[in-house]
Amino acid sequence: EERERQQMRKALDLATKLFHYVLVSTKHGRIAREYLENRGVRPETIKEFQLGYAPSSFQFLLSFLKARGFSEDILEKVGLITSWERGNNKKFYDRFRHRIMFPIHDSQGKVVGFGGRALGDGHPKYLNSPDTVLFHKRNHLYNLHRARSHIRKNLQAVLFEGYMDVITAWQAGVEQVVATLGTALNENQARILRRNAGTVILCYDSDAAGQSAAMRGLEQLKSEELTVKVAQMPAGMDPDDYIRRFGGTAFKEEILATAMSLTAFKLESFKKKYHLQDEDQRMKYLSEAIEVIAELPKAIEQDHYLRRLAEEFQLSLDALKEEQRKATKRRK
Ligand code: ATP
Ligand code: MN
Ligand code: MN
Ligand code: MN
Repeated sequence: EERERQQMRKALDLATKLFHYVLVSTKHGRIAREYLENRGVRPETIKEFQLGYAPSSFQFLLSFLKARGFSEDILEKVGLITSWERGNNKKFYDRFRHRIMFPIHDSQGKVVGFGGRALGDGHPKYLNSPDTVLFHKRNHLYNLHRARSHIRKNLQAVLFEGYMDVITAWQAGVEQVVATLGTALNENQARILRRNAGTVILCYDSDAAGQSAAMRGLEQLKSEELTVKVAQMPAGMDPDDYIRRFGGTAFKEEILATAMSLTAFKLESFKKKYHLQDEDQRMKYLSEAIEVIAELPKAIEQDHYLRRLAEEFQLSLDALKEEQRKATKRRK
């Protein structure tokens, strides 16, 4: 058992080194090097993140590791190869082919799996290692082992959707950054964030998928001892796009510093469901907004948002307060 885990770790380490070497130093890695260069990833960043390239071949990694004494069984268990069965005949081949490789480390900095991005338009765009005995996606955050000290220092963690968002941010001097591994934020990851940060800023893509993921992440992170905020990307951009265009300082000053509170984010996103010029729709929005405000635990917070609403819609604060009292009663 323990011996098997050691073998698996060893295989992951060697694969990381091999992919990195192919990317950085071989002619087979040229297209991948150019791809990363075009995306603005600098050579020292490639090194820091141990980025790599898995070539197109079906048995590149497999034959390399077999020649070093690893069994197909181990390599399959650790998710580096997969198999294909026809009758009694089982064929093994590399899981990752023609992809940019992102090693995923555990909190101690050991590689436990990979994310692989297709070059160009290959499908699926991202392919991750499957869950293995060393790698449970729900327990990991990408980049946590590098970001942790920065999260503690800044009293703040920034949560992205993607690997490239993390890398571009880090490279631009925004270092308190982590990402989930292609899944929704779950309980375990929320706990990790709570343990390390006082404030978590969710910074998801501006597309519909990103916004609904942000809403779910917020619910997951809601807790007494944590401040949760949501940063908004300009339409059509993700953090990687933004930082490449405007830089890390702009990202800190324009995006992170203006992140909205949970309540403000909910109010804004519910607003998008209604045509506010229409009186009926406006009333429906106000009812929904009041429900959100009635959920708030503190009277001063309720007062703050009710005042904002009163001002925005030219209503009397008394009337809004009355409605909020009714909503609070209904909730009990
Ligand atoms: P890029 O900038 O390279 O196109 P991205 O990080 O902006 O990639 P998104 O499409 O915004 O990619 O997806 C965000 C994250 O979701 C990815 O980094 C990846 O972790 C995950 N993801 C995206 N597509 C897939 C997929 N097909 N399978 C598994 N995970 C995926
Ligand atoms: Mn997206
Ligand atoms: Mn994206
Ligand atoms: Mn992107």
